[in-house]
Amino acid sequence: MVSAFATNKRVARLFNWPTSAARGAPRTTDHQPLLYATFPPVAQKKRVAIIPGDGIGKEVIPEAVKVMAAAGAEIETAQFDWGADRYLTDGITAPPDGFSMLQRDFDAILVGAFGDPRVPTNIHAKEILLGMRFQMDLYVNVRPVRLLDAALCPLKGIEPKDVDFVVIRENTEGVYTDAGGVFKRGTPDEIAIQEDINTRKGVERIIRYAFEFCANRTKQDGSRRQRVLMCDKSNAMTHAGSLWQRVFKQVGSEYPQIKPQHMYVDALSMQMVRDPRQFDVIVTNNMFGDIITDLAAGLQGGLGMAASGNIHPGKTSMFEPVHGSAPPIAGKDIANPFGAILTAAMMLNHLGLARESEKIEAAVLDAVRQKKTTQDIGGNLGTREAGGWVAKRVQRM
Ligand code: ATP
Repeated sequence: MVSAFATNKRVARLFNWPTSAARGAPRTTDHQPLLYATFPPVAQKKRVAIIPGDGIGKEVIPEAVKVMAAAGAEIETAQFDWGADRYLTDGITAPPDGFSMLQRDFDAILVGAFGDPRVPTNIHAKEILLGMRFQMDLYVNVRPVRLLDAALCPLKGIEPKDVDFVVIRENTEGVYTDAGGVFKRGTPDEIAIQEDINTRKGVERIIRYAFEFCANRTKQDGSRRQRVLMCDKSNAMTHAGSLWQRVFKQVGSEYPQIKPQHMYVDALSMQMVRDPRQFDVIVTNNMFGDIITDLAAGLQGGLGMAASGNIHPGKTSMFEPVHGSAPPIAGKDIANPFGAILTAAMMLNHLGLARESEKIEAAVLDAVRQKKTTQDIGGNLGTREAGGWVAKRVQRM
């Protein structure tokens, strides 16, 4: 069952939720008797923060929540209105202490998308999304690239078994740290510097995550993952490239059963279109990961089908569909909810609810095969109808 909840009185007051005491439900918080802290309920429900955000995020996330409920996922949810509407009303992007509250009170976060033409600076999107990634140190961005049905792939002769790889993108460094500046702005002598930050710690932990992922995860068909490919541009970006190369070699030597591979990002882009069969686990930096995963989404049926997780192992992690807020199609009930629904499935799996996750993925697969989809992937249903179809299918499983 999905229901609203509150674990902390201060947060409950801030967001006007009922407190645990008001609902008579015991919870493990600072305010409770030691008994509860020492012996928490064995089957405690996972706590999920839902942040739909802007644009189509507000349309696809409710469908994902509906489907999780239909799957019988043992989670409790609380909804947050962070996004453009809230920012335009009271100037708040993320409330003070918002990120530590998420980390303290939730097991996972399901996010829609941020971006609204009424906020041309996109300041709220930057503060909320990058704030979450940086302040919660969600250093791994996992983007599975799987083709559900051959009809969705623009490449000739490519079957679902041919597209089953994962991109592991570094999520907290690179050019996204906003380090740099502009000198002599607006003059003919203007200089703009954008720094690319690569720390030994940051590079090592993402590469290690990729090898661990490869060693411990299987493909859809149950076969073992066997290769980690590092993608960079070390022939041109020599300083950062050298660090990535050295660390990749060192960490890779600890996993003799895994084959290390390397490609420059330009060559990889071409190969991804030419023959996606060759990829297994790809690890790369923040910017190249951003770019190649949009390209990879094209292999899966477009941005409306792609899921992602922003993860810090062992800590509260955040899950979001790969697509943005898509202002041109927002509010029209035409956005594809499957990327968000598959993202919810990925989150449930991360939370240990594998059965519910598998049911949801199977239902989306049925929907795709039976063309019970939105127009972007060949069906004629609206966002709500497509989400509703999957929810009903899940309920019958
Ligand atoms: P951002 O900068 O936040 O990534 P964006 O507007 O540049 O956002 P997206 O929002 O990802 O890019 O979408 C680009 C286009 O892809 C949309 O305008 C839309 O045509 C299509 N698209 C994206 N997501 C979906 C979806 N869920 N369903 C259908 N079409 C989508």
